[in-house]
Amino acid sequence: MTDIPSPNTFRIKSFGCQMNVYDGERMTELLAENGMTAAADGEDADLVVLNTCHIREKAAEKAYSDIGRLKRDDGTRPMIALAGCVAQAEGAEARRRSSMIDIVVGPQAYHRLPHLVAEAAAGRRAVDTDMPAMSKFEALPARRRANPSAFLTVQEGCDKFCTYCVVPYTRGAEVSRPWTDIIAEAHALVDAGALEIVLLGQNVSAWSDGDRGIDKLIRALAKIDGLERIRYTTSHPADMTDALIATHGEVDKLMPYLHLPVQSGSDPILKAMNRSHTVESYVEIIERARAARPDIAISGDFIVGFPGESEKDFAATLALVEAVGYAAAYSFKYSPRPGTPAAVMEGTIEQQVMEDRLARLHEAIGKTQLAFNQASVGRDTVLLVERKGRRPGQMIGRTPWLQSVHVETDAPAGTMLEVTIISAGPNSLAGAVCQARTA
Ligand code: SAM
Ligand code: SF4
Repeated sequence: MTDIPSPNTFRIKSFGCQMNVYDGERMTELLAENGMTAAADGEDADLVVLNTCHIREKAAEKAYSDIGRLKRDDGTRPMIALAGCVAQAEGAEARRRSSMIDIVVGPQAYHRLPHLVAEAAAGRRAVDTDMPAMSKFEALPARRRANPSAFLTVQEGCDKFCTYCVVPYTRGAEVSRPWTDIIAEAHALVDAGALEIVLLGQNVSAWSDGDRGIDKLIRALAKIDGLERIRYTTSHPADMTDALIATHGEVDKLMPYLHLPVQSGSDPILKAMNRSHTVESYVEIIERARAARPDIAISGDFIVGFPGESEKDFAATLALVEAVGYAAAYSFKYSPRPGTPAAVMEGTIEQQVMEDRLARLHEAIGKTQLAFNQASVGRDTVLLVERKGRRPGQMIGRTPWLQSVHVETDAPAGTMLEVTIISAGPNSLAGAVCQARTA
C-alpha cells in the first residue's frame, strides 16, 4: 500500500545489457505518451523506474540498496517501480523484501506500466511478471525519437540453456518479432534521425519468421534510404549460418563487426557449460567470416572460473584470445545464479584464483585490442559522429569496426565524417578530419 500520489515526472535507470537500454527507451516513450514528463538531470522525479539486470551476482542486492537511497531528506520518497530481470526473478517477493517498492514489472510486461502506476497510486497491488508472447510491442507507441545509432530489438529470450545463465528463466523462450513490425520500426527510427540501426536479441542470429532468417532481414533493411549502417548483437555460434556470413561480404551497409561470445577456450568447460560449439567449430566460423569479409573485427565474451576450470583449461582460453586476435572482448568472473545447473556443480574456483585469471585475461585481450587499433593508424575511414567528447570542440564517433574515435570538429552528432586515424590506444583512437559529408 502506498500513499504516493499519481506521478507527473519520471526517471528510468537502466542497468546491464543493450536490450535493457532499448526497454528503457521504450518505457520512456510510453510514459511520455501517457502524459508524464521525464525529469531533467539532477531534478527530483515523482516516479523512479529501476530497470535491473540479473546476469551476475549481487544484482538483486544492488537493486535493493539503490532503492534504499531513493528516500528523500524529508522522509518522503518517489513512487518506485522495479523493472527488468531482477523484477522477473523476484516477482511478488520483491515487495516483501522492500516495502518501498510500489510496482514490480517484468521485461515482457512493461507495456502495462501506465496501468500499474495508476494501480499503485490507488493503493492497489501492482505486480506484473507475465510473459505474453511479444504482445508488449503491439501495445507500445510508435518511435518518434532516435539516437544517431539506434537499438531495435528483433528477438527476445533464449532456448539454449547454458548451464550458468539466467536469461532463459528471466526473459523466457526464444521469440522473434514479425518482419513487418521490424521494418516499420526501422523506417520510424530512420525518419527520427537514426543513421545506424543495431538489431538486438539475446540470440539475434536465431531471428526467423519461419521462412526467412536474419540475413534476409538485413538485406531488406539495407534498402532503407537514409540508413547508413546496420549491426546486430548478440550471436550464438550455433546460429551463424552460411547465409548470414555471406551477407557480411555482400551487403555494404552491414558493418564489418561480429560479436561472437565463446566463453572458454577449453572443450571440456564448453561441454560443462552446455555450449553447443567446440573451440574448433568456433574458430572455423571466424575463418569463414574472415573469408567473406577479410577486415571483419571479432569480439567475444568470456567467463573465467567456471566450476572445474583448471589452469590448463584457462591456458587454452588465453591461447584462443591470441589465436583469434580479438578487436574487443568482455570477460566476467563466473557468478553462480540460483536455479541454474552450474550453481550446484562441484569444483568451485576460489575468488583469488578467479581474480588472478581475470587479470591475466584482461591483459591478453588488451594486447590484441591494442594491436587491432594500432593497425588502423594512417587509415582513412568514415565515422558516425555520436556524441560530444570531454574537451570543448571534441566529438566522439565510431568507425565501421566499432572503435571509438576522438576528433576535433564542429560536426554535430549524426554526421558521417571522413577522418584519418592518427593515433591509437587499447580503448580509443584519435582522428583528424578529412572532409565532412552529411548523410
Ligand atoms: N546470448 C549471448 C551468448 O550466448 O553468449 C550472451 C548473453 S549474456 C546476457 C552476456 C554474457 O554474460 C554472456 O556471454 C556471458 O559471458 C555472461 N554471463 C552470463 N551468465 C553469467 C554468469 N552466471 N556468470 C558470469 N558471466 C555470465
Ligand atoms: Fe544465456 Fe547461453 Fe542463452 Fe546466451 S545462449 S542468453 S549465455 S543461455
